[in-house]
Amino acid sequence: MSRSVLVTGGNRGIGLAIAQAFAARGDKVAVTHRGSGAPEGLLGVKCDVTSTAEVDAAFTEIEAAHGPVEILVANAGITDDTLLLRMSDEQFTRVLDANLTGAFRVAQRASKNMLRARYGRIVFISSVVGLAGGAGQVNYSASKAGMVGVARSISRELGTRGITANVVAPGFITTDMTDALPEERRKQILAQVPAGRYGSVEEVASAVTFLASDQAGYITGAVVPVDGGLGMGH
Ligand code: NDP
Repeated sequence: MSRSVLVTGGNRGIGLAIAQAFAARGDKVAVTHRGSGAPEGLLGVKCDVTSTAEVDAAFTEIEAAHGPVEILVANAGITDDTLLLRMSDEQFTRVLDANLTGAFRVAQRASKNMLRARYGRIVFISSVVGLAGGAGQVNYSASKAGMVGVARSISRELGTRGITANVVAPGFITTDMTDALPEERRKQILAQVPAGRYGSVEEVASAVTFLASDQAGYITGAVVPVDGGLGMGH
C-alpha cells in the first residue's frame, strides 16, 4: 500500500534519508524546503514551519497531489548554541519556535485528516540532548524535551482513533549539523558513545519507517533512541 508521507526538512540531512527510505518502499513522499527545492522523486513543498499559514498551504498542496498526509515526520530543526548566561530571549524563542512549535503546527494540521481517516502515524525527531541535556543547548534541549510531552499528549488524545505518536531520539549522527562542530567536541562526544562510532542517517531512518509501519501499531508515546547507547538509562 502506498501511503502519503510528509517529512519536514526532508530536503537534506536526516530528513532526506527518512524521505528516501519511505520512497524506497513505494510511498508518496513530500518534503518541505525553504527554497532549495527537493531531490528527484520527492514532492517539494516550500514551507517554513514557523509560519502557520505556510504549514497550512503546504498540507493543502500535498493533499491535492498525494491525498491527506497519513504519515508525518516532524524533523525540521535548528540549533543556536550558547551558554545560559549569554543566551538572549530571541535565541531561546527562535529555536523553540522552529523545533517545538513548528512540530506542534504540523502535527495539529495533520491530525485533522488523520482523525477523519481514523489512521495516522506521527514521528517527532528529537535528540538524545532532549533527555540528557547539553551544555550550551538550553534552548535546543528544551525544544527536544518538549516533543516528548507533545507526543505523549497526542497519544492520549488520539490513541483510540488509530493514530500513534512517537519520538525518535538520535545521538551523534553524521550530517551537516554535526560536521559544523569543532573537532575537539566531536572527539569528546565519541568517547562517550558505547558503540564507538557516529550513527548514519539511514540508521535513524529505519527506526522511523518501523514506527510508521503496521507492525508498530501498538507502539505509541515511546521514545526510541538511535544513539549507539549514548543516552542509556533514560
Ligand atoms: P540539517 O541542519 O542537516 O537539516 C535541518 C533541516 O531542517 C533542513 O532541511 C532545514 O531546511 C530544516 N529546517 C530548519 N528550520 C526550518 C524551518 N523553520 N522551517 C522548515 N524547515 C526548517 O539537520 P539534521 O539533518 O542533522 O537534523 C534533522 C533533525 O534531527 C533536526 O531536528 C535535529 O535537531 C535532529 N537531530 C540531529 C542530530 C545529528 O546528529 N545531526 C542528532 C539528534 C537530533 P533548509 O534546508 O531550508 O534549511
